[in-house]
This record gives sequence, C-alpha cells and structure tokens, in this order.
Amino acid sequence: MLSAERIMQRCDALARHSELAGGLTRVFLSPQARAAAELVLGWMREAGMQAKLDAIGNCAARYEGQRPGLPCLMLGSHLDTVRDAGRYDGMLGVITAIECVSRLSSANRRLPFAIEVIGFGDEEGVRFGTTLLGSRAVAGTFDEKSLEARDQDGKAMREALREFGLPPERIPEVARKKGEVLAYAELHIEQGPVLESEGLPVGVVTAINGFSRLRATLRGAAGHAGTVPMNLRRDALAGAAECILAAESIARTDAELVGTVGRIEAKPGAINVIPGEVMFTIDVRAPKDSLREDAIARIVSQVRKISAERRLECTVENLQEFGVTACAPWLMEQMGRAVASRGFRVRRLPSGAGHDGMALGAIADICMLFVRCKGGVSHSPLESITEADAAAGATVLHDFIEHFRLPA
Ligand SMILES: [Zn+2]
Repeated sequence: MLSAERIMQRCDALARHSELAGGLTRVFLSPQARAAAELVLGWMREAGMQAKLDAIGNCAARYEGQRPGLPCLMLGSHLDTVRDAGRYDGMLGVITAIECVSRLSSANRRLPFAIEVIGFGDEEGVRFGTTLLGSRAVAGTFDEKSLEARDQDGKAMREALREFGLPPERIPEVARKKGEVLAYAELHIEQGPVLESEGLPVGVVTAINGFSRLRATLRGAAGHAGTVPMNLRRDALAGAAECILAAESIARTDAELVGTVGRIEAKPGAINVIPGEVMFTIDVRAPKDSLREDAIARIVSQVRKISAERRLECTVENLQEFGVTACAPWLMEQMGRAVASRGFRVRRLPSGAGHDGMALGAIADICMLFVRCKGGVSHSPLESITEADAAAGATVLHDFIEHFRLPA
C-alpha cells in the first residue's frame, strides 16, 4: 500500500529539523541536515534499500532489480531548503520515491532495472551561493572550485565537508557514468498556480526553463538634494528606475518570458543626497534559449541607451546562465500514460523554477511530475499540499516506475 498519510507525516518529521525556531531553514552540511539525512537513510533502509551518505552529503539508496548490478531508474529531489521555507519543496519528491520503493519491496517485486533514490544534500545553494551541488556531483559536473566557496561565516565548503565527516577528495567517486542511469525522474511541487487554476492534482513537465542572471551598475554623480538643479543632475537611481521598467516591459512581450529585478542598492542611500551609484540584478527565464537570449540582449541595450541619455556610466555583468533542460519526449509519454491511467487529464507545463534534473540532464534523459500546491506558493512557510494530492502524485509515480521501459 502507498500511504499518503505516511508521506505527509514524514514531511512533517523532516520539517522539525530546522535551525529556525518556529519555521524551517535547513542548509547544506548543517547539524539539521545531518539529522534529516539520518531519518531519510533510516526510511530508505526500512523500504528495503541499501542506503548511505555519499561524499557530497547526498542520501543515496539502491533497490536492486531482477539481478544485482542492473542499470537504474534514478528518482530523487533535494533535502536542503531556502530560509524560512515550506516543507514540501524537495522533500516530497524524496519521500514519495521511498514510498514507491517500499510498496515494491513489501510485495517482493523486482523490476528489470534497479531503482536508486537520491536525497540531494544541496539544490537551493543557500549556504555557499552555488546551486545544485549534490546533483552536479552525481552528474560528474561538480566544479572543484566551489570547494573554496565560503559561507557567511567565512567557512570554506572544503572545511565544512570535513567537519561533516565527508572527504572532499572523494567527491569525484560520486559521479555516475552514462549508461548506469537509464533515466532520472523527479516528483516536485509545482511552485506555481497552473494546476490549481485548472483543478488538476498533477502535471507532466515539458522542460526546466533556462535562466540568465545579470548585475547592472549605474554611476552618476552624488550631490546635495537641495542645491543641485534638476537639469544638472546625474541621478543613478532615477536612471535605474527607468531601466527596471524597460526590463519589465520587454519581459511582458512574450507570455513564456519572465523577468525580475529582485535586488537594488543605492549609494550613498541618504534622504538628502542624489544617488550617485546604483546596483540592481536582473533575472530572466524562458522555456526557449533563443527567447531568453533575445530578451537579455534587448534589456542590456535598453540599459545602455537609458544610461547614455542620462549621462550615466553603466556596466552589466553576467552572473550565471543555464540553458533550457528539456524533458525527454519518451519519458513524458510514459509519465503522461501513468497520469491518464489514474483518470486525470494530462496537462503538460514547463517549470519556471530550477531543479536537480538540470544537472542530471548531463548523464541521462530526465522527466518530472508536478504536484499541485496551494496558491502556487513555495519558498514560504505558507507552502502547502493536500494529502489527496500527495496520494495522486505517489500513485502516478508508482505506475510510471512499474511500467517504465526504455524506448524501442
Ligand atoms: Zn525544489
């Protein structure tokens, strides 16, 4: 039996391991991450799997197929959270995968492939500012340089790994080879309002949108707010305001495009001083790389044009860029069949948020199943799902696993 009640209880149990009193914050390599990992490893073993903590701090478990050593279908999601997070983003996918394996093992069923379940230690990138550390290690694309990244207390990741009891020099051993992993499938809350608005419990993801992150800095001249006439000013903040509105209007030109200015800093930042320097970030995402790249080019050219008109110096830096990760059509097809067999309309939709599948795409075809969440809210203590939707997600994932076949 798949128990949605147990899935919900386990999400609650993990949520108790938090550094934030009265809320949920659990970052990579923290004592709370250790406690959560121990719980998860216990559940994995109880479900009949071999389980261990790997060198990057992922909970990694394996359920053998009809004979030992077969290539695997990999299932997973992440166990770290953002600050003041919800309890389903990431954890639901790990716990549901364990629940599915538990049902197979209690019925003594072995499939023509192994199943591996991984609870990734870091996806959100909260502690060291770089995302997907756990899944990149598994995909063999872990960047050694990130071992030198420091947290807000100045501690390097290399040192944090050692203190956690993990040998950084063994991270390369975590990498899986192409061929060992037949496919990667992840169940995750939608983090958006589409399924709820259409009255559907689950949806099949088509692609994980690519993203670009930029930082723009405008420099004008600080001056006295009372003495400098308007026509002689070079106000960097007024210029930034115009740039932000231009970015918004470009992002509005296509329904698949989103653009956000999420951070701004004005210097010197006093009520009676004309702002001389302003920094702001730009985050652009789209399900097609060409659409995103074109939008970025237009935004950057507008920022330069507005700066020139206002006699501001401007620099735009590229902080991070990730192309679209498409879900494999053959996997979407099989996931769609599992959805339809439970009587739900098959709704396909892209993912606006990043996921571990972006990393796993380097070694295997990937797919994702979204579960409806209330109000489309995530990264918040208000994040919530119903037990009925947890049950729908679990049965669909279970059917997908049971009928999983490589394409002919
Ligand atoms: Zn997530």
